[in-house]
Amino acid sequence: MFDVDYIRPQKLTDALAFLSENVPDTTILAGGTDVMVDMRSGDLNCRYLLDVGRLEELRRIEIDDGNLTVGAAITITEIGESDLIGRHAPALRKVADKFASRQVRNIATVGGNVAHCSPCGDTIPPLLIHDAVAAVVGPSGERIVPVEEMASGPYHCSLHPGELITHFILDTKPANVEFFDFQKIGRRKELAIARMSMAAMIGQESDGSISFIRFALGSCTPTPHRFRDIENYLMGKIPDKDLLWEAGNALSRQMLGITGRRPSAVYKEPAIEGLFVRMMYPLLK
Ligand SMILES: Cc1cc2nc3c(=O)[nH]c(=O)nc-3n(C[C@H](O)[C@H](O)[C@H](O)COP(=O)(O)OP(=O)(O)OC[C@H]3O[C@@H](n4cnc5c(N)ncnc54)[C@H](O)[C@@H]3O)c2cc1C
Repeated sequence: MFDVDYIRPQKLTDALAFLSENVPDTTILAGGTDVMVDMRSGDLNCRYLLDVGRLEELRRIEIDDGNLTVGAAITITEIGESDLIGRHAPALRKVADKFASRQVRNIATVGGNVAHCSPCGDTIPPLLIHDAVAAVVGPSGERIVPVEEMASGPYHCSLHPGELITHFILDTKPANVEFFDFQKIGRRKELAIARMSMAAMIGQESDGSISFIRFALGSCTPTPHRFRDIENYLMGKIPDKDLLWEAGNALSRQMLGITGRRPSAVYKEPAIEGLFVRMMYPLLK
């Protein structure tokens, strides 16, 4: 059906060697759940598909120097099954409950999700609340790219030609942080791309005041990112219903400030507020 050669190297060094010789003609393939859709639609043409999905070097989940390492070729199903991810990055594990269908989850990878740079990539907000960085290798050696800087725009990846992501490095949760969540609204409950998604990691003092907060929004802006103004607004305060609605309202105004008032704002403006308050409700003591 497609006039392409499928290449499946056994080692990362072989993959890099192949890439360095065939950069312009090669597309990296992991689960293929975006690549195959793009090839069928004619948006993507290439001579070689380089399958990195089974490279051992891209398939680690471990704690390294106090940080959580998640290999780029780890599938969404494996994220959902990982106790280590559940312990150190529970919001990321929650993605697996809400991502596509079982068939897609079984092959779709976190590296593909991030590198595709869709504004709706479900794993991105949970990675952002852990200040995740991608470890990248390519013709000029190794470098670290913050996940927040991976997309230069919707579906535009900032990786250089010939570079591939080997793994992600996530801050593990600070000791005083007990609240984690990932929420997503799609057109349906199952098999739906997010119309909006959010992730949060929050710590509270014994009086309820917020002593640590990271919050990220997906699908509503050209690229998912942290909303540090909202974090700063809530930091140090004791949440009550009014505060949560005020923060939710500020969030939807900030979102509109970035995107402009599109037709979808009629729906998104109240939906963002509502989803934000619903997510933060457990913080009320
Ligand atoms: C029916 C269906 C439902 C879906 N539902 C959801 C959903 O609910 N939520 C969601 O977020 N997404 C969804 N998607 C999109 C897709 O499944 C995800 O984006 C998935 O995580 C992509 O991973 P993959 O391994 O299949 O990537 P691939 O399709 O193999 O690759 C995607 C992109 O990433 C690049 N790439 C892959 N691995 C690397 C690497 N290690 N280094 C550098 N570049 C790399 C590829 O070259 C390509 O540009 C859905 C797709 C389908 C078809």
